[in-house]
Amino acid sequence: MIKVPTPKMRWWEKIYLFEIVRGLCVTMGHLIRNIFVQKNIYTHQWPEEPKPLFPRLKARHRLTRRDDGTPKCTACYCCQTVCPAYCIHIVAEESPDGFVEKRPKQFEIDILRCVFCGYCVEACPEDAIRMDTGDAVIVSNHREDFILDLKFLLNGKGTEWRRSRRFEDHTIARPPATFGE
Ligand code: SF4
Ligand code: SF4
Repeated sequence: MIKVPTPKMRWWEKIYLFEIVRGLCVTMGHLIRNIFVQKNIYTHQWPEEPKPLFPRLKARHRLTRRDDGTPKCTACYCCQTVCPAYCIHIVAEESPDGFVEKRPKQFEIDILRCVFCGYCVEACPEDAIRMDTGDAVIVSNHREDFILDLKFLLNGKGTEWRRSRRFEDHTIARPPATFGE
């Protein structure tokens, strides 16, 4: 066992006054330097100032549509089954389309539980769900706003981005991406 001796404090260290002033000088030095040399500031004023996204980051789920505008999703539950975070919830209903048995009546993704693994996209046999790059996530103070519903997931170009019934409280990280089919 090695005994490490406690260093003895000198008298000016014992009264702490000079050490407090020394600490304040360090803080003020950083403050003044950051005012005049802002390139060294690493803080982003998010969400007003969106952080640059990594080009390969896929963060925006969306459901794709057929040519007639109906969702491609056939409510097969593959994505819900494969999701490791159990954050997809689908309720199926009978489809009026004679060629497709089912369609989603309810399709929700709890985006706060999502780990953005992309398994849902990989598992989909219909190319009905995709994750887009270059798009940020929703910002809200309300938990329920992070449950992305069918309408939101099907939203495309020109449709309403702010989906919440309490959207007046929201700030949105950036405008919706242009979804090209
Ligand atoms: S990206 Fe992964 S965690 Fe998120 S919904 Fe898809 S399967 Fe689930
Ligand atoms: S999104 Fe794809 S995998 Fe998920 S239920 Fe619809 S068709 Fe099936």
